[in-house]
Amino acid sequence: MTEQFDVVVVGSGAGGGVVAGELAQCGRRVLLLEAGPHLTSADFRRWEAKADHDLYWPLRFAPLPDGDVLTFLGGRCVGGSTTINTKVALRAHERDIAKWHPASSLTNERGEPFSLADLAEYYDRVESVLQVRERDDWEKCVRTVQAGFRALGADLEPVMSYTDAKCMKYGSCLQGCPTDGGKSTMNTYIAMALAQELLQLRTGVRAERVLVDGAGGTPRASGVEYVDAVGGRHTAWARFVVVAAGALASPVLLLRSGLANPMIGRHVGLHPVRLVHGLFDETQDAHRVYPITAHCMQFQTDEAGGFVIEASTLMDPIAFATTARDESGPLWGPRLRETVRAYRRWNGLLAMINDENNASVRLGADGRERYEVDFDPTEHARLDAALRFSRQVLEAAGARKILWTGLISTHTQGGCRMGDDPARSVVDRNCESHEVKGLFVGDASVLPRTLSVNPSLTVMALATRLAEHLEMAMADETAPA
Ligand SMILES: Cc1cc2nc3c(=O)[nH]c(=O)nc-3n(C[C@H](O)[C@H](O)[C@H](O)COP(=O)(O)OP(=O)(O)OC[C@H]3O[C@@H](n4cnc5c(N)ncnc54)[C@H](O)[C@@H]3O)c2cc1C
Ligand code: SF4
Repeated sequence: MTEQFDVVVVGSGAGGGVVAGELAQCGRRVLLLEAGPHLTSADFRRWEAKADHDLYWPLRFAPLPDGDVLTFLGGRCVGGSTTINTKVALRAHERDIAKWHPASSLTNERGEPFSLADLAEYYDRVESVLQVRERDDWEKCVRTVQAGFRALGADLEPVMSYTDAKCMKYGSCLQGCPTDGGKSTMNTYIAMALAQELLQLRTGVRAERVLVDGAGGTPRASGVEYVDAVGGRHTAWARFVVVAAGALASPVLLLRSGLANPMIGRHVGLHPVRLVHGLFDETQDAHRVYPITAHCMQFQTDEAGGFVIEASTLMDPIAFATTARDESGPLWGPRLRETVRAYRRWNGLLAMINDENNASVRLGADGRERYEVDFDPTEHARLDAALRFSRQVLEAAGARKILWTGLISTHTQGGCRMGDDPARSVVDRNCESHEVKGLFVGDASVLPRTLSVNPSLTVMALATRLAEHLEMAMADETAPA
């Protein structure tokens, strides 16, 4: 099958869903390609194993130098990770964005170092589409741990979140929201465009490579080759291609398309997370709440410690049982049985640290992805401090036993850095490849440095900015001379 579009977008998550939805609303002919299925609130059940199979990429691991592994989690469905995430909606800290110019010489359209103010109007738009609101409706389990924070001279604040009043606090955000109270790009940007028949969405298809036309000297993207669920190979031609397959997959797609910029796949940030659990005497039911209503921001900046703690959150039983560990490693036998039997008495914190973008994604000689991670001493110090503080909070709140998980990355960022300096970045300030004209990257991989907060709102703000840029470029092409 061969067709012509204005724009082909690969990946329907935080980045791709926004770019596709915005451009479709402008009347552009947009094709959105998504590797996963199109499931909606009518399909979502709190059935952990089935959701893991239907909505997620199979687990991917990065080996750590100490023999342990870091686990990557990401959505593979329409809406991408926004369909299965916890919907915390935070603007970046100005110090996060202040790291971008030194990293890649990124400037705004006036040539000034890129700053938080350059994102303000795009944050406003995303927050309005997603109906972002404050969550101060804390349940008992949050109050329990708040006492621990206060005992240590810290405190919790309500988070902002893209959940509306339909949120019934079922706690099944990681299996897809059954009420549509939780917003994703699937039930907002994409649903609106599909309802108005403005967007072509193809699911269960894997983009294999971006087609690059070298005729005329300057390489230019001309379309995308993709494979359907039964192995059929197709080409979609387009004036512009937007790669938004997520920070692990976008660099790999560019490499498979023959791009050679050595920065592709470099400077990946993991924003590593550990869940830390405390066992209390009383029932906590920390699995039956909107998972993250509160956070402690006291240590957010690098100078203050470089970590953020979110509360309260407890994984569903399979993930809880298979990841819980202590000093002697994962639990087995009677200890595991005892731990799971007390499931309703466990309460949990999520500890995430600022990182230094030291990881990378590359293609091995066998053509498969390889992830390389090596934390530097600063990152190790933050990881230790975040775990120590979380333990102290839970103990001060009355926990009798503490368990934690290994390192997890759900907020992977970087790998296709945006910047003005082609020697230190992959795409320019408009997210267009330095190497191939008409090829744009529109997802978490463009962040030059990892944020200290959950990144999806920033990914969506950057995607809104990219859609505006593409719309202006297309309008200029058709404007009378
Ligand atoms: C469990 C979990 C909880 C999270 N909680 C929060 C939170 O509370 N707040 C927050 O801000 N962030 C959260 N995040 C992170 C946030 O969801 C991501 O940062 C954001 O979605 C990244 O956007 P993206 O567009 O880069 O990638 P994604 O949203 O992951 O979208 C990428 C899409 O591309 C598709 N794709 C990949 N390869 C191909 C291919 N070759 N062909 C076609 N399609 C392809 C994937 O299937 C996927 O749908 C969470 C993430 C996870 C996993
Ligand atoms: S807690 Fe709220 S947002 Fe999450 S799945 Fe339940 S209803 Fe949806």
